[in-house]
Amino acid sequence: MGLLYLGTPLPWDEAKKYADHVRTHGITQFLHIWDRLKDRTGDELLWGDEIEYMVVAFDEQEKSAKLSLRQTEILAKLSDIVHDISAGLRYEVDTLMLLTDHFSVAVPNFHPEYGRYMLESTPGSPYTGYIQDLLSVECNMRYRRALARKHLKPNEIPLTFTSFPLLGVQGHFTEPYFNPNDAVSSHSFFLPEEITNPHARFPTLTANIRSRRGSKVAINLPIFFDEKTPRPFVDPTIPWDRNIYKEDSDAKNGAALPDHIYLDAMGFGMGCCCLQLTFQACNVSDARRLYDGLIPIGPILLALTGASPIWRGYLADVDCRWNVIAGSVDDRTEEERGLKVIPKSRYDSVDLYISNDGFNRPEYNDNYLPYDESIYDRLRAHGIDDLLSKHMSHLFIRDPLVVFSETINQDDTSSSDHFENIQSTNWQTLRFKPPPPNSPIGWRVEFRSMEVQITDFENAAFAVFVVLLSRAILSFNLNLYIPISKVDENMATAQRRDAAAKAKFHFRKDVYPPGRSGASSEEYEEMSMDEIINGKGDNFPGLLRLIYAYIDTLDIEPRELAKVGSYLDLIRRRANGSLITPATWIRNFVRSHPTYKHDSVVSQEINYDLLLAIDEM
Ligand code: ADP
Ligand code: MG
Ligand code: MG
Ligand code: MG
Ligand code: MG
Ligand code: MG
Repeated sequence: MGLLYLGTPLPWDEAKKYADHVRTHGITQFLHIWDRLKDRTGDELLWGDEIEYMVVAFDEQEKSAKLSLRQTEILAKLSDIVHDISAGLRYEVDTLMLLTDHFSVAVPNFHPEYGRYMLESTPGSPYTGYIQDLLSVECNMRYRRALARKHLKPNEIPLTFTSFPLLGVQGHFTEPYFNPNDAVSSHSFFLPEEITNPHARFPTLTANIRSRRGSKVAINLPIFFDEKTPRPFVDPTIPWDRNIYKEDSDAKNGAALPDHIYLDAMGFGMGCCCLQLTFQACNVSDARRLYDGLIPIGPILLALTGASPIWRGYLADVDCRWNVIAGSVDDRTEEERGLKVIPKSRYDSVDLYISNDGFNRPEYNDNYLPYDESIYDRLRAHGIDDLLSKHMSHLFIRDPLVVFSETINQDDTSSSDHFENIQSTNWQTLRFKPPPPNSPIGWRVEFRSMEVQITDFENAAFAVFVVLLSRAILSFNLNLYIPISKVDENMATAQRRDAAAKAKFHFRKDVYPPGRSGASSEEYEEMSMDEIINGKGDNFPGLLRLIYAYIDTLDIEPRELAKVGSYLDLIRRRANGSLITPATWIRNFVRSHPTYKHDSVVSQEINYDLLLAIDEM
């Protein structure tokens, strides 16, 4: 998540009075960064991953697996350990050190996340583009997991699992138990207040999204109809007649749809785990080129990493988390949603290609783009080009959701807090990250669509794949543009059940030449996942072949090539269907469990066996 101040967060009625103040000063802060760093160049490729875990407490007697709400204690412990490691005290870590080759990787970072059962870890310092670093990613991930695991209770396991199957079911799904009737921030039927990180930022974010929107968030996922799932499906576990919060009647008045799994709180989305990657580019225009190049890749890798087919105890007809998170922080008012004033949640896919490269033709930016005209004019008057001005003034249509009374007035020359307040609560598939003030860090791009994978081998494989693809995009100046509305269609397709195996996605054919003007419908066509990754005859070489062409330009030893090849092979096989996605694996596990009743219901016992099987991987 973004910034964690210590301070007093304002309730929505107060916070909204400062919305223009935060936007105005946020842009001033961005302009200071721009003036200082727009010409900065020569930064090397540095990159790093973020992996999120859920801590699950197993009970062998009871055959249950629940979310452990001990994040605060766990993070305090891990931060002591990390501190000792960086001070050179390697006690306790010796056995884990065997996993890794060099010392710098032994100092990871652990961060809090939205869920009180979640941890996030990053490598202590970013990787370089050298092949040796690529090869240490998996070790580093395993080391971080082992370090976390070593400091949990014996029955607690950090799992890289995208969505907890029983989050929000009736009965006990957290350790310890809390009653959802106490959910004063979200007013959820299903998730107790204690599901949320207690830091003031998180309950305030939850409550202010609900207040700004004027209702609870409402997500309806189509249920997976199995042989014995009742039709129509009307969820008997929703407390339809509860009467505690003013929104309690919403469900029966249309918020909860039949034949769907209804979710009503931020925690259902922000409580998911994902895998994110951040890349530093040489300069701002390369960062913009990379950002654009990765936009069409977002939905492709969402589908290929799909890992979340179970929601609130039911099998869903989707494989991915994306629309759940988008809906879970959708703070738009009814008017903003209904009249298409603002077409998307602040968590959604990117709306604008931003590179000034000639490949980026205006017709590719074919989404309706609301933007703040006065901010746009101000950026233009400052000398910033049309596309970057549109990008920023589009992000800045949003209100700041959490404002701390202590940090309302800032020194705009040295702070970026107001800028980040808006920037980091635009949760899109890609994030264009300007350098923080007063740091050696350059212009970066964050790739955010992937679901976290069950094993570190898989997480490393996807990280290596995207790193090498981003290298290929920049060094061959690949042209991957398709109309951005088609990327959005791909986002919807990517989440459908079995999309990786069965769906077709719009993808560009000619990636080398600059493209013929005008004939845009001939530039792209529908391709299967196999064709996008592994090639489509003479029509399209496939992303892996582009990556291997890039690898050919490197001086790389056979042993290293074999290791990189083992990662790329995973991607190849997942794309051609010889390896199934985690979502398909999970769905198959449930459907073949001896106690499954073919009614879409995932019981406590199935959940226990599933998560145990996952730990054993
Ligand atoms: P976020 O704001 O997305 O939560 P994090 O701080 O959690 O960001 O993660 C940022 C990632 O970027 C980490 O993996 C870190 O190693 C990596 N990183 C740090 N510095 C750089 C840099 N200069 N260039 C690229 N990546 C970096
Ligand atoms: Mg995170
Ligand atoms: Mg992070
Ligand atoms: Mg984050
Ligand atoms: Mg962060
Ligand atoms: Mg991130």
